[in-house]
Amino acid sequence: MKVLVIGGGTGGLALAHGLVRAGIDVAVFERDTLRTDGLHGYRVGIDPDGSRALHALLPTELYDTFVATKARDPKYFNMLTEDLKEVLSMEIPASTDPVESEKSISRMTLRQVLLTGLEDVVEFGKEFTRFEQHGSQVTAYFADGTEATGDVLVAADGSGSRVRRQYLPQAKTEETGIVAIAGKLPITAESAQLVPPKVFEGISMINAPRGLFCILHVMEFQWDRDGQVKSGIGGNTEELIRRWPGLQFDNTRDYINWGLSAARDKLPADIMELRGEELIRVALELTPGWHPNLRRLFELTDPGTCFPVNIWTSVPLEPWESSNVTLLGDAIHTMTPGRGVGANTALRDAVNLCRALIDVRDGCQELVQAVHAYEVKMIDYGFDAVIKSRAQMTSDDPVHKPVIGRMALAGLRTAMRTVNHLPPVKRRMRDSMLAYRGADRDELTLEINPSPVER
Ligand SMILES: Cc1cc2nc3c(=O)[nH]c(=O)nc-3n(C[C@H](O)[C@H](O)[C@H](O)COP(=O)(O)OP(=O)(O)OC[C@H]3O[C@@H](n4cnc5c(N)ncnc54)[C@H](O)[C@@H]3O)c2cc1C
Repeated sequence: MKVLVIGGGTGGLALAHGLVRAGIDVAVFERDTLRTDGLHGYRVGIDPDGSRALHALLPTELYDTFVATKARDPKYFNMLTEDLKEVLSMEIPASTDPVESEKSISRMTLRQVLLTGLEDVVEFGKEFTRFEQHGSQVTAYFADGTEATGDVLVAADGSGSRVRRQYLPQAKTEETGIVAIAGKLPITAESAQLVPPKVFEGISMINAPRGLFCILHVMEFQWDRDGQVKSGIGGNTEELIRRWPGLQFDNTRDYINWGLSAARDKLPADIMELRGEELIRVALELTPGWHPNLRRLFELTDPGTCFPVNIWTSVPLEPWESSNVTLLGDAIHTMTPGRGVGANTALRDAVNLCRALIDVRDGCQELVQAVHAYEVKMIDYGFDAVIKSRAQMTSDDPVHKPVIGRMALAGLRTAMRTVNHLPPVKRRMRDSMLAYRGADRDELTLEINPSPVER
């Protein structure tokens, strides 16, 4: 069996690792060479589901490298006002379990971890244009005039998926009416002093009037600005980072990452065309009454890291007739970052699809039947996550309306301040927040054995 994967992002590369380990022939076709711009330079939160999926798919040492290269774990989850007053602060319990824990990851680093060991599998500069199905085979065509034929084609080409547009023209994506501006600035003596200690050590959300929302992440890694492992880390972690070839390309050093979002009617009409200094100016114009330290964070932002993100979502879809073309991740269920589970769901798909393809290899199921079983399940949990993520991030939310918005914000702050003063209620809220897990433990474990022939 030959598997063609279109797109070498989070889901496609994780799937490729599982297939390689299972001895299944796989080729990944990626449009871009290594990119450092846009979201690539930013944080992604990998939750225990995503960690279990990576643990199931990656070779053991590469999983350990993934853990060794994460940023320091956040200690607090904070909700603040725009003048930096605490509304709610919950301590996140420390976890030393390398799998069952929340992780702050640099996307750029994750991408390089996932590319490690796939040098012979991933082909760069391959922009997929269309496919043709003929008998039990499928051929993918690329913009450079080349083609590749296999038994299965997996669309892992993200939210603008060209495979999806051809295969499922009925599938729709739509704008949520929310646009975010993202930026980051290096941690220096000045920037570190601008936020309270709990913010420096945590994940912080600012809910402000007019539906403005800002998220702050402080990312501190195990290596310094020259790529040298920081002193005092020691042990296996230091050894893993030193041995890993990926870090030499890493452009991320300790930084503060912010994302400021608003309904589109609060932003300039040409927001998606703005870059760098222009976006920093928009952030400052949107936030005149905000605490001077927060505004200083915007001012200190490296303009080269600033970009606008139009928040899209997909529209839930009825199951379709399965074939030897299938999809995973954002290619089928693009979701808002409202719950921070898009990448985690793509990884869950990768485990489930890998298992289905191993079953086919072992003769337990016919290909189309296995793909169908994967799709039925994936459609169910994937679009459940889409709906829940949309509820967290849409311009239909009352907070974006003029009068009712102020009342909604006041109500939210009163409720959260009350919780903040009631430790048992706060603990329950924290536990239920951390307990949101889509998958059960068994679903995300995988026995990967090489093919019977190789055995
Ligand atoms: C602001 C923001 C914050 C987020 N934060 C989180 C978070 O904290 N946690 C979380 O779980 N999720 C988060 N997400 C969602 C997450 O980024 C995505 O769900 C995840 O990256 C999807 O992975 P994927 O493999 O499906 O697609 P991608 O990672 O987007 O990969 C798609 C790949 O396909 C390639 N490609 C595209 N078109 C072609 C083509 N024609 N030919 C060949 N290759 C092609 C692309 O170059 C890319 O490498 C966030 C999203 C946003 C916008």
